[in-house]
Amino acid sequence: MFSLPALPFDYNALEPFIDEETMKIHHDLHHGGYVNKLNAALKNYPEFQDQSIEKLLSNIDNLPDEIKTVVRNNGGGHFNHSMFWNVLSNEPSTPSQQLLDSINNNFESLEGFKKQFSDVAINRFGSGWAWLVKTDNVTLQVLSTPNQDNPLMDKTGTPILALDVWEHAYYLKYRNKRADYVNAFWNIVNWQKVSELFAN
Ligand code: MN
Repeated sequence: MFSLPALPFDYNALEPFIDEETMKIHHDLHHGGYVNKLNAALKNYPEFQDQSIEKLLSNIDNLPDEIKTVVRNNGGGHFNHSMFWNVLSNEPSTPSQQLLDSINNNFESLEGFKKQFSDVAINRFGSGWAWLVKTDNVTLQVLSTPNQDNPLMDKTGTPILALDVWEHAYYLKYRNKRADYVNAFWNIVNWQKVSELFAN
């Protein structure tokens, strides 16, 4: 069985960039809902209940047809949000030298990376996510996915930074101005955590 992880910070910690009410609804109701629906889907499949969420999603194409879509959507929702909370922080941080070197190699500069990541986040049509992914050959790649899909599902690589661009992530405060939300995101990235994920 999967459970909703506690937020690693207070609901209001990310103010003014992400507001307290959005965080409460987003974590407790949206993320909580994905966890509940994932567990409900696996009720009759004990063989999958104790797998890690990463293993379950990496194997999504081989799941029984009856649960494939619901696990894709809600298991994806669980993994994506768990990762999202962990790469946010109200404490200032900077990328490790190792990560910065790789960003410079792949995107020419940190600003070049931020621009590319912001562009895919802003231009994702409808609901989805923007990702920074470490591929198997230790190159970095920026991409976006629809719905609750993620880079584990098609084995693109290991996600090390995630941004939720569903309207539920920003609409209370930013209304239709997704670009303002994406720009604000750079103030609350937990670069220490991203650097750890990169190093692993
Ligand atoms: Mn969300």
